[in-house]
Amino acid sequence: MRLVFLGAPGAGKGTQAAKVVDEFGLVHVATGDLLRAEVAAKSELGVKARAFMDAGRLVPDDLVVSMLTARVAEDDCKSGFLLDGFPRTLPQAEELDRALVDHPVTRSLFFEVSDEQIVGRITGRRTCSECGAAYHVSAHPPKVEGVCDRCGKALIQRQDDREELVKERLAIFRDQTSAVVRYYKDKNMVTTIDADRSVEAISVEVHEILRGLA
Ligand SMILES: [Zn+2]
Repeated sequence: MRLVFLGAPGAGKGTQAAKVVDEFGLVHVATGDLLRAEVAAKSELGVKARAFMDAGRLVPDDLVVSMLTARVAEDDCKSGFLLDGFPRTLPQAEELDRALVDHPVTRSLFFEVSDEQIVGRITGRRTCSECGAAYHVSAHPPKVEGVCDRCGKALIQRQDDREELVKERLAIFRDQTSAVVRYYKDKNMVTTIDADRSVEAISVEVHEILRGLA
């Protein structure tokens, strides 16, 4: 099975991916992790990507595509993989299809979630400034507001998780990814999942879909 999970940042696709990869024997390929690994390994692509990241710019399509297509061509991906966070743009989707011409994507799952849900999920995140423990003001609050249960230090909100920035990222995402979703829809390759529901409810549906494909 070769899967693509699509959805806005905060839609919960990474959480769902982690729940199914072992069961279905898939390699979980998350773009962000792969990018960080390449940069850390100082590979040729990693060094190039680093220059863009250091300049505060997005890593260009062709670089991201080269990394992803090289990764899915590795032996461990032969039994199947799950792409999480890729393709993000229409050119990336087209390039991926060219790279996978002999083993095309089996299905893409689109985790559709309302802006209000995403803004709530992301802006409510808090992290311990000392030990890194993660909380959420409503879904997983600490016993004492603003204080870490584990070590008693102050909880902070990541700069990136502020409402204005979340809304900005969402607007960019909608712009780019709606084209990717349309692309897969035209090929009858996308299943849309209502991701405004609980993690458990979504997980049940994802399992059903994947069992139908396996
Ligand atoms: Zn702590």
